[in-house]
Amino acid sequence: MHPRRLLIGGNWKMNGDLASSVELAEEVVEAFEPLRESVDCVVFPPFPYLQAVARTLGNSGVILGAQDCSTEANGALTGDISAEMLVDLGVGQVIIGHSERRQVHNESDSQTCDKVHMALESGLKVMLCVGETWDERSAGRADEIVRRQLKGGLAGLAKDRVGALTIAYEPVWAIGTGKSATPKDAAMAHDLIRSDLEDLYDRPSSAAVRILYGGSVNAANAPGLFAHLQIEGALVGGASLKSGDFASILGSAATSFQGRRG
Ligand code: PEP
Repeated sequence: MHPRRLLIGGNWKMNGDLASSVELAEEVVEAFEPLRESVDCVVFPPFPYLQAVARTLGNSGVILGAQDCSTEANGALTGDISAEMLVDLGVGQVIIGHSERRQVHNESDSQTCDKVHMALESGLKVMLCVGETWDERSAGRADEIVRRQLKGGLAGLAKDRVGALTIAYEPVWAIGTGKSATPKDAAMAHDLIRSDLEDLYDRPSSAAVRILYGGSVNAANAPGLFAHLQIEGALVGGASLKSGDFASILGSAATSFQGRRG
């Protein structure tokens, strides 16, 4: 099998303002340009800045992403944003099931699943996040939780939709804590996700899905993570707000892809 380019996502969360978002997008475009044959890149700005960032990204090849979408197509849902609205703004991919949605907003597997269906039906690609808390890991339940979130988030999804998915393994205890999973532990979790995808669908359709790692990825630990073939990119929070660090992660992913190609 030909190795795939790694995908690096920058999740800007609820940070920055209009000017700093545009500036960051300009810096990402500049860093991505010399690497565009060797890595894929998506940024997830806050909703209000999507349109301005879209203009900045232009045809740079950096994909415009969004951090969430509604379960519904439209209606009386104050504050929600539909998948169709995102498509309208040029968004190509949406994060669904981020642990901050699951924990802070109490989103269930079933809501996550409804969002996955809605996003895919609207033509968006989906980055589905799964991952266990520290308590769950300590209780030896990490695999069970990841499996439950994966199965729950993808319930009812037809095989021909699977190619539009990316899975991000994001252990909750590693997000924003500076405490990344070891590359070996992350690779083991990715193996589990890969084999579950093959069980849920089949090998050829699940082979189309990239599995990323997320949780305190930074310029220093990225090369060690990308040394594992199972790790096909990263979803980056904090370090994506510093263009130099994000550029360095993009560079590590490009180098890793070139090494995988041999
Ligand atoms: C995230 O929010 O998806 C994330 C991985 O954050 P951080 O890189 O800051 O841990």
